[in-house]
Amino acid sequence: MSGAAPSRTGSSALYRRACSLMPGGVNSPVRAFGAVPGDPLFIDRGEGAHLWDVDGHRYLDCCGSWGPLILGHGHPRVLEAVERAARRGLTFGAPCAGEIALAELVVAAYPGLELVRFVSSGTEAVMSAVRLARGFTGRDLVLKFSGCYHGHSDGLLVSGGSGLATFGVSSSAGVPRGTVADTVVLPLDDEALVQTLFAERGRDIAAILIEPVPANSGLLVQRPEFLRTLRDLASRHGALLIFDEVISGFRLGMDGAAGLYGITPDLATFGKIIGGGMPVGAFGGRREVMQRLAPLGDVYQAGTLSGNPVAMAAGAAALTVLRDEGVHARLEGLGQILSRTLQPAAAAAGCALVRQGSVFWLAMQPDPPRRVESVRREGMARYGALHAAALGRGVYLAPSGWEVGFLNAAMQPADVTLLAETLAGLIAASPA
Ligand SMILES: *Cc1c(COP(=O)(O)O)cnc(C)c1O
Repeated sequence: MSGAAPSRTGSSALYRRACSLMPGGVNSPVRAFGAVPGDPLFIDRGEGAHLWDVDGHRYLDCCGSWGPLILGHGHPRVLEAVERAARRGLTFGAPCAGEIALAELVVAAYPGLELVRFVSSGTEAVMSAVRLARGFTGRDLVLKFSGCYHGHSDGLLVSGGSGLATFGVSSSAGVPRGTVADTVVLPLDDEALVQTLFAERGRDIAAILIEPVPANSGLLVQRPEFLRTLRDLASRHGALLIFDEVISGFRLGMDGAAGLYGITPDLATFGKIIGGGMPVGAFGGRREVMQRLAPLGDVYQAGTLSGNPVAMAAGAAALTVLRDEGVHARLEGLGQILSRTLQPAAAAAGCALVRQGSVFWLAMQPDPPRRVESVRREGMARYGALHAAALGRGVYLAPSGWEVGFLNAAMQPADVTLLAETLAGLIAASPA
């Protein structure tokens, strides 16, 4: 797919129609290609490692629906499970055995997780876990870190202000000041600030909420000591540590970032992979904490489609394949293929390839940042040009330089070699 710019008339026509019916033509903002050149592609279908747009172009899919598709598109075991479940009923609003199957997989896989509740999105999972932490501790304050994304619930749409240890400033119109007043935002990678906060407000803090491998503002891999300090401070002050593993859960391994770092949180939240491509979220943790949820306890949480039988079947099939087929080791092998070619090419172009297993990010700066404040905004335009060029070469990257890329198990070594060589060539040619 070189030479003349490929025709995308089909996508552009659909985009115009979509814009007349839906705000920005999309149902989730970053899909609108606001951060990269061109109109969004309308996708016709996915199969294995690839996507096809409505104009018939094929792309290696490095977005993977933003994380869920660790097995690629249409894995036969997942499809079969979905078909079988759908024939028995799309939803019952009553208990079904599929919930138990997925719950057993999650409880067996994740450190310290004794009870789990299923919801329908990552947003819901984190929102509910935070409510539970507040109910359990009887405290209101939640500490989060700038650059971490925890979904779009009101209380978590917060960014740090200009000072340190700032009380949240809402990062969206429509979020009342009072709602974010109980969220404190600190920069990542700074133990001393967290220690100071706990020294001053430790008795008021219900929870520390963090993406243990922050992957929503680039890939901001943390020092293990930082995460260990959070565990330690939470334990000493009676606060709960919540790992938001919506991206990292079942991606870095069956035991997520908790396993990677050997740190057990009090609560963990899941989404994306846990639904095998269907809308599922989950949160879970210690029995003592989870038993505070209704109907056992006084923390309310509910959902008409929670534990949906088709979604449960998809998730259980995906997690079973991940558990039994050595997928994570294979993905690490693919990741090494990517690193071997792309890491030196990125360095030569003044950039850095950051990779954790099958998650990768091209930082448009020489040193990999550990906090969002260190990410150079100028790099985003360079990413935009790279994104457009990559599409022209049959590589579908996430349409924003803040987003990570994902390898999936349907990719062959040759696909990843081609990806690495394509990006290496494009980054070398792109102006800094
Ligand atoms: C995607 C994501 C969420 C939100 O999940 P949705 O399913 O989009 O609501 C929350 N936390 C993290 C870390 C995520 O990556």
